[in-house]
Amino acid sequence: MKTCLVVDDSKVIRKVARHILETLDFSVAEAGDGKEALVYCEATPPDVVLLDWNMPVMSGMEFLRALGEAELSRRPKVVFCTTENGIGHIRAAIEAGADEYVMKPFDRETLYSKLQIVGLA
Ligand SMILES: [Mg+2]
Repeated sequence: MKTCLVVDDSKVIRKVARHILETLDFSVAEAGDGKEALVYCEATPPDVVLLDWNMPVMSGMEFLRALGEAELSRRPKVVFCTTENGIGHIRAAIEAGADEYVMKPFDRETLYSKLQIVGLA
């Protein structure tokens, strides 16, 4: 089973994302901020990380940089989530190591197509 770590400070968004991913046959874990996500990835790197941008403690961007420097047994794909207002962040995120992005709010079809692009669906 493919694994996805959903990283978002919103419990509601994590729940929605988990539901969609489970219908796509992913095993899902959740983290509430980048720091929590980094600790998780260092212990058990998932196939893909669905990453929020704005979070307390450690933002999506800070997580990407830390992930780039971390020594992991394997490197997860990263799909980061942005909003209409945050579209300017896309290039910075890709440069920092993100593989794809998805606009919030996303539906099953959109997320599925992004997972296909990174080779996981
Ligand atoms: Mg957020």
